[in-house]
Amino acid sequence: MIVVMKLESTREHVERVVQSLERNGLRVSVIEGSGQKFVEVLGSNGHFDRSILDREPMVERVVDEAAPMFAAGRKPDDQTLEIPLGDRATIGGQKLGIIAGPCSVESKSQLLDIAAAVKQAGAVALRGGAFKPRTSPYSFQGHGEEGLELLALAREETGLAIVTEVMRCDHVGLVARYADVLQVGSRNMHHTHLLTAVGQQSKPVLLKRGWSATLEEFLFAAEYIMLQGNHRVMLCERGIRTHETYVRNTLALAVVPELKRISRLPVIVDPSHGTGHSHLVPPMSNAAVACGADGLLIEVHHAPSQAWTDGAQSLDLDQFRTLMSDLEPIARACHRKL
Ligand code: PEP
Ligand code: MN
Repeated sequence: MIVVMKLESTREHVERVVQSLERNGLRVSVIEGSGQKFVEVLGSNGHFDRSILDREPMVERVVDEAAPMFAAGRKPDDQTLEIPLGDRATIGGQKLGIIAGPCSVESKSQLLDIAAAVKQAGAVALRGGAFKPRTSPYSFQGHGEEGLELLALAREETGLAIVTEVMRCDHVGLVARYADVLQVGSRNMHHTHLLTAVGQQSKPVLLKRGWSATLEEFLFAAEYIMLQGNHRVMLCERGIRTHETYVRNTLALAVVPELKRISRLPVIVDPSHGTGHSHLVPPMSNAAVACGADGLLIEVHHAPSQAWTDGAQSLDLDQFRTLMSDLEPIARACHRKL
């Protein structure tokens, strides 16, 4: 385990940390490199009361040796990476990236109507599944390439960037030909071959957290992509599975500030899959922006009760417009723009 000291820490600060660890029976060694100081805890498997380090204000972070974080990690002076969402928008800067659209691409008129409405309300990207990861093999699996063609048409008509999921390694080239951002879904966050494949192409990747993944596993999944040379990765918290069944997933918003603290990748929140209920989407969107999210991924449908997939969590067009105007003062209070 390595204790990374803040850049401005002095020898006295390091000595305090050393003494505090030694008082807890640990053997340590001090390392200095590129202006930064580290305290290595020797032979520890990390199973001691780490809260003793929380009381040390000059500790930057604690890293498990077994889990060093490379490309996705944040060094003290790092800014959040700003990643393009198509030609006209980015995510990770001051402006929030709002990605909205139906769960699935159903038809031309469905997609174009929703695209025009979300664009008008201020979204910068259109989401929509052409390849759908469904729990039941009997459920609608998506229109495939035909769905991608409709997404490309919606981009032509509205200028919105297109975000859509890729599930198979041999589909990466196909999806990248149509999409501006490739989504790797919650079910595939652990699919290391797919992560490698999306890392070998140049389009940005929206990586969703596996519903039982730890933050470390989530960041290592990002690392798989970045290791191939594609650093355009955004992280998406979409809820985790807990004992709670009232909500579809438990939206773990505390990970937003934590990911922003330890990683330089932008963080998006998906309150639609994160709750499963449309009435919970606006309050959780507000909370996500308030706790530092760089963007939102929201399911919107012109007629949620008739949606082929995920109608219960989809906002209708009016609800989306209201959400966007209600978000405005929250964004402003957080020094962000919509
Ligand atoms: C989706 O966003 O379309 C989706 C299937 O979400 P998740 O991978 O988070 O379940
Ligand atoms: Mn969905």
